[in-house]
Amino acid sequence: MSSESGSVLVRSPKTHVVLLPSAGMGHLTPFLRLAALLAQNHHCQLTLITTHPTVSLAESSLISRFLSAFPQVTQIDFHLLPLDPTTVNSNDPFWLRFEAIRRSAHLLSPLLSSLSPPPSALVYDVSLISPVLTAIEALGFRLPAYIFFTSSARMLALFAYYHVVATTTALQFVDDVLEIPRINPAIPISSIPPLLLIPNSLFANIFIEDGPKLPHFNGVLINSFQGIETEAVEGKVVGALPPLFAVGPLVPCEFEKIDDQGEQLLKWLDDQAQGSVVYVSFGSRTALSRDQITEVGDGLVKCGFRFLWVVKEKLVDREEQEGSLEIMEKTKGKGLVVKHWVDQGEILSHKAVGGFLSHCGWNSVVEAAWHGVRILAWPQHGDQKINAEVVERSGLGIWAKTWAWTGDDPAVVVNGEEIAAKIKELMQSEMLRVKAMKIGQEAKRVASVGGCREKILKGLVQEWSKNR
Ligand code: UDP
Ligand code: UDP
Repeated sequence: MSSESGSVLVRSPKTHVVLLPSAGMGHLTPFLRLAALLAQNHHCQLTLITTHPTVSLAESSLISRFLSAFPQVTQIDFHLLPLDPTTVNSNDPFWLRFEAIRRSAHLLSPLLSSLSPPPSALVYDVSLISPVLTAIEALGFRLPAYIFFTSSARMLALFAYYHVVATTTALQFVDDVLEIPRINPAIPISSIPPLLLIPNSLFANIFIEDGPKLPHFNGVLINSFQGIETEAVEGKVVGALPPLFAVGPLVPCEFEKIDDQGEQLLKWLDDQAQGSVVYVSFGSRTALSRDQITEVGDGLVKCGFRFLWVVKEKLVDREEQEGSLEIMEKTKGKGLVVKHWVDQGEILSHKAVGGFLSHCGWNSVVEAAWHGVRILAWPQHGDQKINAEVVERSGLGIWAKTWAWTGDDPAVVVNGEEIAAKIKELMQSEMLRVKAMKIGQEAKRVASVGGCREKILKGLVQEWSKNR
């Protein structure tokens, strides 16, 4: 906001928001989409705290593109304490990074104190709740703090409630479901992230430590919207929660576009009939075993539809080896198989793409909803079965429930015949096509100028501006 007085331009100070994402594209991407909205549409001054080097190349490339598009954003490197693998019972590099950030969180106090002008609000990642809260409490000033929950509202309900039912030895279930007040239907035990069923796993301990802290926050932001999850919008997610702000759908932005998508890929899509292609991707950090890759290839060839498949053999992109896979030869002429990062937003928006075989990482679900593309859910880890429940209940897609969590056990393999049959079911369903399209229209309405998302963000920024 500015006003002219004579020839002097008087500018009121902007609302200064600090953003602290966590490791992995599934966490970074929605943060940067939120940041883009805050900078562009709501004129906030932003500070982005990042750790260096990032776990994956995709993250560092996205941060660079974001900062080039928004040179007015201040970036601060958060220097972490050295990794201590003995403190984490996991070999997942993203989890090791969460833990390193948590262990280094006290170093944030001097960093936050040195910011000028003093920040009006801090929005930080759900994986960092307790340690960063301690760092905020050590500041010599009041800093309103908000959690950004990067998964579904249904998963938030589980996160907020887990500590109530978890004891140090077991989880208390009745009839193999977890009843959470106001959450319907109850969550079946088979959908709970496996690590939450293991007492004392890092994941379970974080839920037990962090869940009860939620009421300490000024609010929880969530990338969800009416049309896919009513809970998110009605704030129907268990009691004792601070206000819930449904800031979704957070969808692909201009700064995310990559120049080297490969003309070949887009040209290939251009040559396919409308809605005829199934897009297959398990996100940024899920590798399939060799055997499972063979079966997926077999299923795709047998399903009778054209496909675009992004295949991954390693959790972290830096470790992925160049070169083609045998499966690429076998599937030639039937579809396109690539082994590199793609611009998923661009693919889902292409008219040729009619269905999405997805692991149901929450960002992929929201992106599919945005483009009105129906999903065949094949969850692999963590929160993904809970997200698959949302996909199924909203009508955005179907879920092959009997397929196991192959991501956690390379010995479990779903065979090609089954995969082919489910893809056919997805692609041939007119009902699903129409329902997904309607969800896409609803998403557009929510995100339009003057729509719900804008109103919610406007309210938040107004609240923050009181603290300038
Ligand atoms: N993504 C992409 N290209 C790829 C793989 C992933 O653009 O080749 C994006 C995808 O669009 C989404 C994010 O990376 O925004 C992955 O987040 P999600 O929550 O879907 O799953 P995760 O990778 O965290 O398991
Ligand atoms: N996980 C994994 N690989 C993945 C995604 C998750 O091993 O691609 C594991 C992760 O190590 C964690 C659990 O699944 O132990 C739950 O992960 P969640 O999906 O909740 O984590 P997020 O994707 O939100 O970081």
